[in-house]
Amino acid sequence: MKVAKFGGSSLADANQFRKVGNIIKDDQKRKFVVVSAPGKRHDQDYKMTDLLIDFAEAFIEKDKYKSYYITILDRFTKIVQELELAETILTEIEDHIQGIMQSDLPDEQMINSFKAVGEDCSAKILSAYLQSLGIKATYMNPKDAGIILENDPTGAHLVQNSYQSIYKLRDHDGVIVIPGFFGYTKEGELTTFSRGGSDITGAIIAAGVQAELYENFTDVDSVFSVNPSIVKNPKEIDVLTYREMRELSYAGFSVFHDEALIPAFQEKIPVCVKNTNNPSADGTMIIAERAPDTTNNNCVVGIASNSGFKSIYVSKFLMNREIGFGRKLFEILEDENISFEHAPSGIDDMSIIVRNSQLPKEKEQFIIDRIYNELHVDTVSINRDLALIMIVGEGMKEAIGTTQTAANALGDAKVNIEMINQGSSEVSMMFGIKSNGVHRAIKSLYRAFFE
Ligand code: ASP
Repeated sequence: MKVAKFGGSSLADANQFRKVGNIIKDDQKRKFVVVSAPGKRHDQDYKMTDLLIDFAEAFIEKDKYKSYYITILDRFTKIVQELELAETILTEIEDHIQGIMQSDLPDEQMINSFKAVGEDCSAKILSAYLQSLGIKATYMNPKDAGIILENDPTGAHLVQNSYQSIYKLRDHDGVIVIPGFFGYTKEGELTTFSRGGSDITGAIIAAGVQAELYENFTDVDSVFSVNPSIVKNPKEIDVLTYREMRELSYAGFSVFHDEALIPAFQEKIPVCVKNTNNPSADGTMIIAERAPDTTNNNCVVGIASNSGFKSIYVSKFLMNREIGFGRKLFEILEDENISFEHAPSGIDDMSIIVRNSQLPKEKEQFIIDRIYNELHVDTVSINRDLALIMIVGEGMKEAIGTTQTAANALGDAKVNIEMINQGSSEVSMMFGIKSNGVHRAIKSLYRAFFE
């Protein structure tokens, strides 16, 4: 049995729904289908989820929400009519949205309920469309599928025993279509995953039913070794390990959600990233182990970059001898609810890299003052406009000269290295550079490792 998840671009309009129908028809093993909300049809278009969020916020503020409502319904109407489906689905969709509007849900729950409408309607429409093709298909709400989540703001943690109830779906006759992106708490409250979270639903279902494969359909033939908007036609990746994918997703590869790797990884379900617009292409396999190439030329599988970071630089003479210094420093961050990404350190200094969103400009001085006054340090400063470059590959652990190749490439590109951090697992190497050097750096690193 396979689980096939289709992303927003795969369901952006009626024509895309038809492609999805053909893909499901093509392989009877595709018994579980998980869908996103309709995505953009072209660059200037809106994603359905973005429209729903804008609509929800305007509705709560009682501010001109009608135009969003009309746009949302129009898009579903167009898809349903072009697929020549019974218009009763549209009445159902309208009733569903009206039901949320008339509910007395608290604001956050109301926003979540609106956000989930995109996926929910995609699943209802796709299931009706598959039926029209003669496929025995059933829409199934995530609650009925068994996606019951802990009430935990840090992510998608299934309540214990959920997998057992999901496993029972194997006995279902025909194709089950499940909306992605949301689940329910034990108390029955609808909760959404983070953005792009339909991948997580797919992974949970794949792990739950012990699928032989989790196919993640998107709009590219494979995962590329670098961002194709920086390097034209970069090398495609055939096989990746979960750990490599995790490192690459972390630093900006948006093709597969990093949290979705957890259920797949735990149950060792192989994942294949495939293209709805070219389903015969092999795609990229993500698996538990692969024999890594340890030669300096081939040990790197991908290079990712992500902007939007800053670092807090702290120095104090004899820091290395002061017992508890690190704890006290991190306690300040914990107090202020700031999560950090990396913390490269020297004997007398330390840099703590955080996302910009964790440390807005107006909070900087307050944090500086706290560190200065409470830890009696020599200097504290903020280094802004940082980007992280992650060079990723399991083979790096045993390859000689990778850092040298990377550093030379950055030198050739006239990019100053602000920070280097090699993960303890040696699956990745991180370089902190100024954001304005990212394109130059990636191009040069690509040349060095892939050409
Ligand atoms: N529709 C949601 C989003 O745009 C979830 C998803 O597409 O996976 O983030």
